[in-house]
Amino acid sequence: MKIMLDAGHGLFTQGKQSPDGMKEHEFNSAVAAYAKALLEGYENVTVYTAHDPTGKLDVPLNTRTDRANQLNVDVFVSIHANAFGNGGWHDASGIETFVYKTKPKEAYELAIKIQTNLLRASGLPNRGVKTADFHVLRESHMTAVLAECGFMTNKTDLTKLKSDNYRRAVAEAIVDALAVQYSLKNKPAHKPIQKSSTPSGKLYKVQVGAFADERNAEALLDKLKKAGFSGFIKAE
Ligand SMILES: [Zn+2]
Repeated sequence: MKIMLDAGHGLFTQGKQSPDGMKEHEFNSAVAAYAKALLEGYENVTVYTAHDPTGKLDVPLNTRTDRANQLNVDVFVSIHANAFGNGGWHDASGIETFVYKTKPKEAYELAIKIQTNLLRASGLPNRGVKTADFHVLRESHMTAVLAECGFMTNKTDLTKLKSDNYRRAVAEAIVDALAVQYSLKNKPAHKPIQKSSTPSGKLYKVQVGAFADERNAEALLDKLKKAGFSGFIKAE
């Protein structure tokens, strides 16, 4: 299946940053990169990105959805960090996931899975799965969801948004939801090294004694057997 990841905005998009200067796109694109790497561990999955991974360009919304439609991707996942008000800190906090206002069934089911996983990963308040008339949800012709993974305007949320561990956890939350919804299968792991044969074909022996008198050899073998080892005497 084809999955398109969409890290919202660009690095230099006006206003899309925390009051202390963390760019929203920095979070969004880090999560998208981790999610892409995780998704590439599944069979029959092709991952596309709607954004510019360098962040220099804020790819217009039309371009993002046109590309998703042209590529005929199966799912579009838009990744965002939230903000409240017009600058400054605020106590609004938590996780919300959006689907288009008509509440398409498949998107809604995926959104519930993503929301549930994000709540577990973040420990932040549940603001629910919501509907909205956002461009990326409206203009995409496939299952589309938009996740708001915490508020840049809340100091508690922002500590998480800045943390690499949280970015990885968000990526895992999204990818696990996709894996469950679409029954994705992991690519087979590397073949284990066979332990039953040695690479050189040689055998390696352990000798515990060498005696001139056969009786001494028999006495030692007897001791070994009593101690639970098996062995043999070889005369040379
Ligand atoms: Zn955003």
